[in-house]
Amino acid sequence: MGLRPGGAEPVARIECRGGKRWAWLYRIDLAKPKFAMTLADEATLDKAMAKHQTCGTCGRRYFHCIPLKPLGSCFECYDGTPADPTSYIAPPAPDHRLAA
Ligand SMILES: [Zn+2]
Repeated sequence: MGLRPGGAEPVARIECRGGKRWAWLYRIDLAKPKFAMTLADEATLDKAMAKHQTCGTCGRRYFHCIPLKPLGSCFECYDGTPADPTSYIAPPAPDHRLAA
């Protein structure tokens, strides 16, 4: 709903999956609007996410975080497991200059 608790205490707790998943519920009339993210906030977040999603070997940026800590690269670079081409953004093309 684009709202945040704004300091209000929860008034109830909803559970599903036998209590394995749950969430606090808050009064809507006491809630405040969410803080809007600025372009600078988005750029900072994007930069942080890029670190976890970009393979240092092939330069692809995946739409999900890749296991860089244990593997050091994406699965395709690590063991040849082909990556779904829809799961990443291709690295920027090398700078080709036309000779005159
Ligand atoms: Zn890679």
